[in-house]
Amino acid sequence: MLAKTKISLAKQNASPGLRAKLEDSDRVLNVLVKNLYGMVYCCLYDSKWTMVYASEGWSELTGHPPDSLLSNATFYYEEITYPEDRARVRAEIEKAVSNGRRFHVEYRIVHADGDIRWVSERGSPVYDAQGKIEAIEGFIQNVTPRKLSEIAALEAKERYRSIFENAIEGIYQTSPEGQYLNFNPALAQIYGYDSVQDLAQGISNIEKQLYVDPHRREEFIALMSDHGHVKNFEARVFCKNGDIIWISENAREVRDAQGKLIFYEGTVEDITERKSYEQQIEYQATHDALTGLPNRTLLSDRLQQYIGIADRYASKVAVAFIDLDQFKIINDSMGHHAGDQLLKTMAARLSDCVRESDTVVRLGGDEFVILLTGLNKIEDISESMQRVMAAVALPCHIEERDFVISCSIGISIYPDDGRDTTTLLKFADSAMYKSKRSGRNNFQFYTEELNHLLMERVEMEYRMRHALKNDEFLLHYQPKLDLSSGKICGAEALIRWQPPGQNMISPASFIPIAEETGLIEDIGLWVLRAACRQAVRLKEQYGVALPIAVNVSPRQFRQSGLVQSVREVLVETSLDPSCLELEITESSLVHDTGSFIKTLHELKALGVKLAIDDFGTGYSSMAYLKDFPVDRLKIDQVFVSHLETEPSNIAILKAIVALGHSLGMKVIAEGVETAYQQAFLHGIGCDELQGYLFSKPLPIATFELLITDQQHR
Ligand code: C2E
Ligand code: MG
Ligand code: MG
Repeated sequence: MLAKTKISLAKQNASPGLRAKLEDSDRVLNVLVKNLYGMVYCCLYDSKWTMVYASEGWSELTGHPPDSLLSNATFYYEEITYPEDRARVRAEIEKAVSNGRRFHVEYRIVHADGDIRWVSERGSPVYDAQGKIEAIEGFIQNVTPRKLSEIAALEAKERYRSIFENAIEGIYQTSPEGQYLNFNPALAQIYGYDSVQDLAQGISNIEKQLYVDPHRREEFIALMSDHGHVKNFEARVFCKNGDIIWISENAREVRDAQGKLIFYEGTVEDITERKSYEQQIEYQATHDALTGLPNRTLLSDRLQQYIGIADRYASKVAVAFIDLDQFKIINDSMGHHAGDQLLKTMAARLSDCVRESDTVVRLGGDEFVILLTGLNKIEDISESMQRVMAAVALPCHIEERDFVISCSIGISIYPDDGRDTTTLLKFADSAMYKSKRSGRNNFQFYTEELNHLLMERVEMEYRMRHALKNDEFLLHYQPKLDLSSGKICGAEALIRWQPPGQNMISPASFIPIAEETGLIEDIGLWVLRAACRQAVRLKEQYGVALPIAVNVSPRQFRQSGLVQSVREVLVETSLDPSCLELEITESSLVHDTGSFIKTLHELKALGVKLAIDDFGTGYSSMAYLKDFPVDRLKIDQVFVSHLETEPSNIAILKAIVALGHSLGMKVIAEGVETAYQQAFLHGIGCDELQGYLFSKPLPIATFELLITDQQHR
């Protein structure tokens, strides 16, 4: 056999001892072959590969008895080859052998115990003297453990590849320089590429081509070198078609044995939907739903930012607080739909008035704030405010009607007026109130003096609340004179405030504040009750049924419970309703004519008398006057007091008297200080007068003296 020849050749090099052993080559071969883990064989090159020699390893390898195979005694070898592998094994062996080459083939056999074993067979052709293939000899070895672990490894590799290929997340490896080394189809798909190849060709520089903000790559690398990984690293990236999406990356560094960075590997998730949801929520939380403008929440953030910028560039920030003057009237009379339309239009106009870098905020209701940045001089603010007022004042077409409204603006300036957002907003708000009080439709800058006034106001409000509880209010009575009879025909109750140990405070200084703060409702009720009691007392004590007039301020008049309060006080005091007169100022009317007239009628139905106070100064259109169920027109004192110096007042006074009479109303003039005025008024047919000439408002005791005095005359 071939092996024998090889051993004989090697013998010459062996030591004498070893050579002796080698001499006995058959023995050596037998021992070797016997101890081989596997089977040495020789088979004929016939159709069945008839086995002529099989070493002892046969039994162990196949589990069949030693002589079962020789000369195909029981079966031939190919029969125990796993059927599926037979054709391949035969083809490979025949191909090698016919080419005169050695072969190596791995395949499965079926062991006698029914198990399948993997074997490795190496062999070569054996030729006869004519050089014709006569036999095949070779060695077959059990390689099952190795093969199984190879298969397991292959399967695992396949599994991982499948995960890689089919993952929904993008998976990648990139060089530290920013090139893709390896990535899966999902990554290509996330970035909008048609295939892996498409992405490989499309992106050669991640920093420049992928990230919308190229600094993100630097940040990514910095985080990597600090921590060795990044977690939920969010960035905006470009897709193939230029769209921008949000991604979140988790990645780590991979280093070689020497610690050198070889690549980054990580995953990419498309979080655009979540981001847009988050942004939507954030937008809703920071913007006004109706107008789309930033809301109060965003205001202080923005203002804070602008303050930062102003500090850096030594510039100024203006905070303009804007309140629409007639919004409530339109909203109440035309309904919320119209109100909403108006607000939207105004929001758009305000936004158009300012630069991109400025901010328009809707605070709520009809209040807006404009933040102007990068200002160097105050004049710029004035110009902007002129623009705002002009834009607001343009006619506004809503539901087939044109509305013209105005706005009142208050301005505070950083850093001049305040250094923090709260103060600046508070001061701008105060300045806005000032512009409201100075006749609306204008703008006012915040001033120290304004602040002082405001402080006083706050203080006053506080003291007024106490005054009510501590009984610091009292009424003075100013008699009214009937011009034809020369007798007292009534009296007006006028409130006074006497804080203990201090000077008396005039209503002119506290009534407007009570009106603004709403305290007027409580104060008004107190006045009503006190005046009614006094009227009852006059009747009971002195037998005089003298009508007492009580002032009802605009806010009190609009208060929903007014009619009910009057009714209750009348019942409570048992006053004859005709002895109570309510003086209502014209300005109560401005808001809503319909409900104004309705309230007048309800009051009238109680049996009380009604007078329009300060007539001629308000906006009340003469057209409505005929619908008012009022008993008296009370001409404002400006027309009377300027009678001597202002000849035009003559005409006005005559006209009012004529108008009043034509509507069946009495006309009374107030503020009559001179005999000339009295004579004039008498001359034009005015019915009554009230004024210092006849009597100042009097404390109760003096007033009662006056009444009794007149009785006895
Ligand atoms: P008014 O209702 O028009 O009251 C007339 C005011 O003119 C009173 O001022 C009165 O003292 C003053 N006056 C009367 N005759 C003359 C005169 O010949 N010359 C001048 N220069 N003034 C004269 P008063 O008491 O300071 O009240 C001012 C305003 O305060 C009132 O104007 C009224 O609007 C309001 N007011 C007074 N008391 C009350 C009240 O109880 N409730 C409400 N809501 N307002 C009140
Ligand atoms: Mg009055
Ligand atoms: Mg008056």
